[in-house]
Amino acid sequence: DLETRVDVSTRDETGSLAQAINDLAVDLKRYRDSRREFFANVSHELRTPITYLGGYARIVKEGLYQSEEEKKQYLTIMHKEATRLKRLIEDLFDLAKMEEGKMDLEMEAIDIKEVLENVVERMQLRAEEKGIDMISTLENNVPFLYGDGMRLEQIFYNLLENALCYTEKGTVTVDLKLESEERVLISIEDTGIGIPAEEQPYIFERFYRVEKSRARKYGGTGLGLAITKELIEWQGGSIDMSSQEGKGTRFDIRFPIIPDEKEEQT
Ligand code: ADP
Repeated sequence: DLETRVDVSTRDETGSLAQAINDLAVDLKRYRDSRREFFANVSHELRTPITYLGGYARIVKEGLYQSEEEKKQYLTIMHKEATRLKRLIEDLFDLAKMEEGKMDLEMEAIDIKEVLENVVERMQLRAEEKGIDMISTLENNVPFLYGDGMRLEQIFYNLLENALCYTEKGTVTVDLKLESEERVLISIEDTGIGIPAEEQPYIFERFYRVEKSRARKYGGTGLGLAITKELIEWQGGSIDMSSQEGKGTRFDIRFPIIPDEKEEQT
């Protein structure tokens, strides 16, 4: 029984063995708890959109709406929830592959500037719609890095999506530079609502969202940053965050460059 404590008061070999067993038991309990929590979260996250879909589908099917306008509203919600569900399933699938160590990455020499330009262009319309200035300051002639082009796009798409989502007005900046001889630094900074200091240690955890009310308002699955971090680390990079509530958030992503690639390119 994991709850049973082995006596660790004796300062001898038996004592240290008992300590080791207790530590193991605590780890195992924590692991079980986090798994239980994970599955509870998954079920909840899957159930919510399905409930909406079922409910509104019935209303539309049975003609229980007052106007065409109202019907359209219900269909819009259904579409949104279906999109959310699709995204959630894709995210879960990615996480499962990563857990099994089966993430197939197609690594090749990547022009990171081109990747960032593509993602920024794709998000530009959304920024304009929200009245947010999206500024990119991308250094020229940054050396290539080894990575998976599609996955890199996914990483920056996730981060930019969050930046735009959690910013009401102001700017989102995407910056690329060669930080040292070994690595590039990509910073994504926003002037949004920020993340409270006490929540900051947890934001890369699965399903973690700052405040439940905020999560409902902004949608999202709480898996985005967990996946983003995994994907970055799988490609040899790192991610750091700094944020001030009410002021904004910055993510710094670093990737090693391919040595001497610069000479080969020019
Ligand atoms: P979600 O799908 O809910 O956005 P993420 O894993 O991408 O999940 O992010 C986790 C939480 O971190 C979000 O719910 C949000 O509260 C917070 N967060 C992420 N990016 C930002 C940002 N740029 N500004 C403010 N809060 C953020």
